[in-house]
Amino acid sequence: MVYLNGNFIAKNKASISVMDRGFLFGDGVYEVIPVYQGKIFRLTEHLDRLQNSLDSIQITNPYSHDEWQSILTKLSGLSSALDQSLYLQITRGADTQRKHNFDTLTPTVYIETSPLIAKTKSQLENGFSAMTREDIRWHRCDIKATSLLANILYAQEAKQHQVEEMILSRNHQITEGATSNVFMLKDNTLFTHPTGPNILSGITRDLVINSAKACKLNVQETPFSLDDIQQADGLWISSSTREIMPITLLDDQPINQGVIHPAWSCVFDYYQQLKND
Ligand code: PLP
Repeated sequence: MVYLNGNFIAKNKASISVMDRGFLFGDGVYEVIPVYQGKIFRLTEHLDRLQNSLDSIQITNPYSHDEWQSILTKLSGLSSALDQSLYLQITRGADTQRKHNFDTLTPTVYIETSPLIAKTKSQLENGFSAMTREDIRWHRCDIKATSLLANILYAQEAKQHQVEEMILSRNHQITEGATSNVFMLKDNTLFTHPTGPNILSGITRDLVINSAKACKLNVQETPFSLDDIQQADGLWISSSTREIMPITLLDDQPINQGVIHPAWSCVFDYYQQLKND
């Protein structure tokens, strides 16, 4: 079952107009929200970010917080999976003609849920590989926009090279991953790129920051470079669906001799506790 514009229907019965600006231009925004043991995780934070994305592209939020909560709770309850990933997309809606500028339209709201199968700690402890690329995306990466061509190309390249993620740099500074935020550990300090137009302000990113502080790490939201990473004690990526993954091989070179720093384990455990709160 999926949700489309007020109705809970079978996915193969869900359809939208070819004039939908989401289809024509990728003119819309989205969110991905985890559900753990049937409970929506950090709903308010995700809905606040959704509001920012909508405001940034001048779409009026079609629902209140309570309306979102009741729709999402109902949809997730229709799934038998206890852990899920909710995908919400709001596009500007369907126009009568194809034109770049827009009038006020009725937004299209689509939501689906899929089972979320998180990797176990022992799977994560094997470490993951990543490659670096120049960040060719636009300068509003803070908007969670459905127009994701650059991210799609990075994801395909990652698949072709059999690596977990592409780590992006702009003006020699690491911004984020193609679908994640990036953290560098050095001398008991965890660095991550500051929020702003260059990165998506990850909900997991905030939780990693809090978990790191609880693990007695210093946290600095300041840029770091590709050169810095080569000397790092740890390199992690974070996202709602992947949680916190240690990268042990970057561009075929080991990070910290391929050894996962114990701080990762502490932060990972703390994060798991947050999921049970
Ligand atoms: N940065 C990008 C480009 C992303 O696509 C994502 C998630 O998909 C993130 C960061 C992490 O965001 P969150 O932790 O809210 O899932």
